[in-house]
Amino acid sequence: MNFPAPKALILDRDGTLIEHVHYLHEVDKVRLLPGVTEALRLAQHHGALLFLHTNQSGVGRGYFPLEAVYACNDRMIEQLGIGDSPFARICIAPETPDQDSPYRKPSPLFAREICAQWQLSPSEICYIGDNASDLATAEAAGTNGVGLTTGLHDIVADLTTLRLSRPYSIFTSLLHACQSLFVTAHE
Ligand SMILES: [Mg+2]
Repeated sequence: MNFPAPKALILDRDGTLIEHVHYLHEVDKVRLLPGVTEALRLAQHHGALLFLHTNQSGVGRGYFPLEAVYACNDRMIEQLGIGDSPFARICIAPETPDQDSPYRKPSPLFAREICAQWQLSPSEICYIGDNASDLATAEAAGTNGVGLTTGLHDIVADLTTLRLSRPYSIFTSLLHACQSLFVTAHE
């Protein structure tokens, strides 16, 4: 990794922390991906703040209410087992791609607010997600970013199409990403 260990991670939810289920809204379909608890513990052990940033256009499309997103988040947090409030702040963007949305990724607004509130510079933050739009968000906000192949997207192909200005490392699991971010890259 060509940047210091991050002081904050902004994590995507679907395909990053939990299995990607299309328009997930039923709590009994919430399943953690392998190694996620260990990965987040490792980040916390290294002093990183954790944030959650999730696009949930199913709300804007009228498929399910915002309360279903809260319920699925709560089930995920329960399964993580790293405390009742592991995320310093959770940002849910409920709009569809064609609705005006202050926070829908790739909007940099959430990262900017974190920088202001926690007095961090963008270079101290790392976005992690399974979608090219997570890295487009990193690019827009000027933060670092790493991609994961744990979702439904072909993130490598999508990144080629997006032509972002920087190279982003891609990992096969959140645990591998966190080991690289916090341990092996700095040995
Ligand atoms: Mg995702």
